[in-house]
Amino acid sequence: MHQLIEKALKTHSLNKEELVFLLREKQINDDLFVAADTVRKQFVGDAIYLRGLIEFSNICKNNCCYCGIRRDNKNVSRYRMEADDIVNLSAHAKELGFKTIVLQSGEDLYFDIPKMQDIISRIKKNGMKVTLSIGEKSFAEYKAYKEAGADRYLLRIETTDKDLYHQLDPGMQWEKRRQCLLDLRALGYEVGSGSMVGLPGQSLETIADDLLFFKELKIDMAGIGPFIPHPDTPLKDAPGKAFVLSLKVMALARLLLPDINIPATTAMEALHPQGRLLALQCGANVVMPNLNTEALRKRYDLYPGKEKAYDSLRNGLVDLQNKFRSIGRSISPDYGCHGDYLRSLSKK
Ligand code: SAH
Repeated sequence: MHQLIEKALKTHSLNKEELVFLLREKQINDDLFVAADTVRKQFVGDAIYLRGLIEFSNICKNNCCYCGIRRDNKNVSRYRMEADDIVNLSAHAKELGFKTIVLQSGEDLYFDIPKMQDIISRIKKNGMKVTLSIGEKSFAEYKAYKEAGADRYLLRIETTDKDLYHQLDPGMQWEKRRQCLLDLRALGYEVGSGSMVGLPGQSLETIADDLLFFKELKIDMAGIGPFIPHPDTPLKDAPGKAFVLSLKVMALARLLLPDINIPATTAMEALHPQGRLLALQCGANVVMPNLNTEALRKRYDLYPGKEKAYDSLRNGLVDLQNKFRSIGRSISPDYGCHGDYLRSLSKK
């Protein structure tokens, strides 16, 4: 095993040059994946935490160049779910065995503070945890959602290369996004961030910076996935689809932040029929099955292949459980949040 992987196993710390070396070097890939799987088992165990994902609106005021639901994409059939439908779908998910709901959307201004508070508090009343992934908001908005009961927030930094970010997310400010993550942390959310891998113009140095950024911010969750070009966006001809590199970034995230939650992202499954299972064996411990109907899943068209990367819930969680058992893992019976995990350690 390469000495840098041994170092990471012992210290959970690597500097930028070391990360770049491991990202570049192909000979070490298998050892890196085994090391990440070992650390995952040691720190967060074999249980897989499920989060039921509801993509409740694909209306977005932003125009991110990589994203299929960007404002200027006129080929998207836009939708917005009603509050009652969101709450009912959450209740159905609870019956299936889900304990956490992730509410994701474009930045849709229709969902103001009272509307979000209503939805959050009704799902919470049903005994579920609520994660939000609805983009950049003010401190006051984040505070209002927290008061309504939201537990966690996912906001990917996308890339830590500020110039690249400003190029790819026109009209948005990298510093503002970072400040959002700090605000969420200050308000007591469990904070998830993350990045895309293989963006045009992204270097291995930048990816190393992304990993160091996650460590510096002490994030609770890191959602890492390959950039997949969407035909109706300005990046349609970019290569993307960096599957193995994404696995490596996930594995390195596990080595640097051994006890966080790392989802096996849908973009991995979109690129490879076994993408999620492979990710689960390279450091990941969370899966976020999509709860939307097929018709709506198609319309939340962030990137090609997404809607097909879907686990059937027709038999409840049985099919998923069988899939996980095939790699010696199983669905966790509890909420599995990073905060709870840390609290349980401090009690020991
Ligand atoms: N509006 C929310 C949710 C964004 S969609 C927010 O701003 O956080 C969720 C994630 O999908 C994004 O953060 C981005 O990382 C990812 N995504 C968007 N387009 C993508 C593409 N073409 N390929 C891969 N991932 C993409």
